[in-house]
Amino acid sequence: MSDTIEKVKCLIIGSGPAGYTAAIYAARANMAPVLYQGTQPGGQLTTTNDVENFPGYPDGITGPEMMIELQNQAARFGTDVRDGWITKVDFSGDIHKVWVNETKEIHCQTVIISTGASAKYLGLESEQKYLNLGGGVSACAVCDGFFYRNQEVVLVGAGDSAAEEAHYLSKLCTKVTMLVRRDEFRASKIMASRVINTPNIEILYNTETDEVLGDGQVVTGVRAYNNKTKEKFEIPATGFFVAIGHKPNTDIFKGFLDLDETGYIINVPGTTKTNIEGVFVSGDAADHVYRQAVTAAGTGCMAALDAERYLAAKESDFEVSTPVY
Ligand code: NDP
Repeated sequence: MSDTIEKVKCLIIGSGPAGYTAAIYAARANMAPVLYQGTQPGGQLTTTNDVENFPGYPDGITGPEMMIELQNQAARFGTDVRDGWITKVDFSGDIHKVWVNETKEIHCQTVIISTGASAKYLGLESEQKYLNLGGGVSACAVCDGFFYRNQEVVLVGAGDSAAEEAHYLSKLCTKVTMLVRRDEFRASKIMASRVINTPNIEILYNTETDEVLGDGQVVTGVRAYNNKTKEKFEIPATGFFVAIGHKPNTDIFKGFLDLDETGYIINVPGTTKTNIEGVFVSGDAADHVYRQAVTAAGTGCMAALDAERYLAAKESDFEVSTPVY
């Protein structure tokens, strides 16, 4: 256990577009932000290839490049960007307590939560087994697709992520079999039609995964079934990609913050305030509707402004500089 407790004016948890944007604003307002990157530095965008819809990049930019630029921009104004994972919080008092990697304790005047969301898996034992073995199960085509070039893969899901990942994989793999559990896509028309019109993507509607098959080390195929006829069949594949949505990374806040039934943090409408004074939320941890990099960045900005105003109102002897935005 650490014997010294660090005191921080503004602690930012998470390093996606929300966290880094909050950091840029907080640093420029002299709030001396400390940002913990978490388990996936750069957040979900590091698993995305081309980002073409973030304003200001007419030719697009890769997700990892964009996150490095955001980190550099936050650091340029003095954000203390650190490795580490916040494993526990205690928001029951005036001073908000957080623990880093179970040991280091930090006392914070304000906390900005930007913990984002994580990929969901089906939960099949066989899926988890090969995921943990690193033997052919992945939730990120952009990260892992390279390992399956010139091979056949199966992908589960029918949303925009699934469509994007299937299209990405189709450029590397000889064949992508897409398992869609209903008789239609959830993805936008443009994304779905791109997939439908790609010759080496086969779409199996009304089809779900029964088991991920393997030789004990690596994936060799998938046993799928038609959920209308109940017919089971096997698809040879060396990779099994899951693209069925995300879960907000908010478990450590249970018991302190108001969460909805899925775990998204409930904010005061029109603000980034939570039910705890001095604790603010930005990005996908509170957003199950828009979930875009640009909206996450927007709420990151809002969170820093809300935190700054909170500090200015609460601490009469606390000198907050005039921010230059
Ligand atoms: P979504 O929640 O939109 O879609 C999840 C998909 O997974 C659905 O088709 C769902 O099926 C399917 N699914 C869920 N659980 C299972 C299961 N157990 N077995 C089989 N299939 C399952 O998540 P996404 O990650 O695709 O998208 C999230 C948000 O991000 C959306 O708002 C999306 O528009 C956006 N996005 C935008 C992109 C872009 O514009 N470039 C790229 C990627 C995402 P069902 O339809 O039957 O419910």
